[in-house]
Amino acid sequence: MKPMTPKRWLIVFHCLIVLGCILVLVGGFVDYGALRTVLILLGFGLAVAAPIVSLFKCRCPSCDRHLRALGFSTDYCPYCGEFVD
Ligand SMILES: [Zn+2]
Repeated sequence: MKPMTPKRWLIVFHCLIVLGCILVLVGGFVDYGALRTVLILLGFGLAVAAPIVSLFKCRCPSCDRHLRALGFSTDYCPYCGEFVD
């Protein structure tokens, strides 16, 4: 198994956001009260967990500064210029 790099954590961040939004949307259309509540809370929890994952895991390996998850699309750290894998 390959080690988790900041870019892979960024993919996890985006997947959590998208999955959380999908669960909340699906939960909004479900008629069963308990299932609806579970889906919405689970989706909301994933969407809340995503920025926490980003905050702790999307960091430059060289200078340890937070790489902005939403604007981080280059191969280099915007602060120190180090290559980010
Ligand atoms: Zn850096």
